[in-house]
Amino acid sequence: MPSARLQYLDALGIDTWEPRQPQAFPAELPSAPGAATGADWQLLQDEVAGCVKCALAATRTRTVFGVGNPRADWLVIGEAPGAEEDRQGEPFVGAAGKLLDAMLQAIGLSRAENVFIANMLKCRPPGNRDPKPEEVASCLPYLMRQIAAIQPKLILAVGRIAAQNLLATDVALSRLRGRVHRFGPLSTALIVTYHPAYLLRSPAEKRKAWEDLKFARDYFKNTFVSGS
Ligand code: URA
Repeated sequence: MPSARLQYLDALGIDTWEPRQPQAFPAELPSAPGAATGADWQLLQDEVAGCVKCALAATRTRTVFGVGNPRADWLVIGEAPGAEEDRQGEPFVGAAGKLLDAMLQAIGLSRAENVFIANMLKCRPPGNRDPKPEEVASCLPYLMRQIAAIQPKLILAVGRIAAQNLLATDVALSRLRGRVHRFGPLSTALIVTYHPAYLLRSPAEKRKAWEDLKFARDYFKNTFVSGS
């Protein structure tokens, strides 16, 4: 196990041990062909930046389109921007973002290289309240266009809001974990895990999140990485 991974597992609060055999998981995941083309992607970004489809436009500082590699095989979907994201215009840059980066790094992913990160909502709900159904409904077409452009092989839905809205269910997040769901017109694989902000409040659950990440990593490897 590389020392960087040990470091990140440590950040997750997870005890680690050295495996007897080196792990087969590749250090770098191959990137998908992807359909995010320059002009369409730019147009979508411009539309999001100027969006006034719901009341959140009046209270936001900046829209938060998403970050990462638009040709990535992995798409992480969170809930909505918080205060720091609203200020910086980038998702997951606060404390929860640092933990998300650690979680992703533990399975060989980074926003600088091989994952794209977006949210259900592009604008911050005041006071970080839960998104309203009408806000999700207004914003969902942007996310659907992002998904159509990126064509990820695997969506990782982090937290209850993303999981329940994407899967159109009220089933508790704990019961949505541990299996591969299907999402959207391309039946994209979707796996659910806890939101990093929840994990910061409930560190005892970090071990379950690590189980989810290993499940997602192994599913990806077994399904999409040839020769494994
Ligand atoms: N929480 C989210 O769900 N998304 C962010 O971008 C930041 C915090």
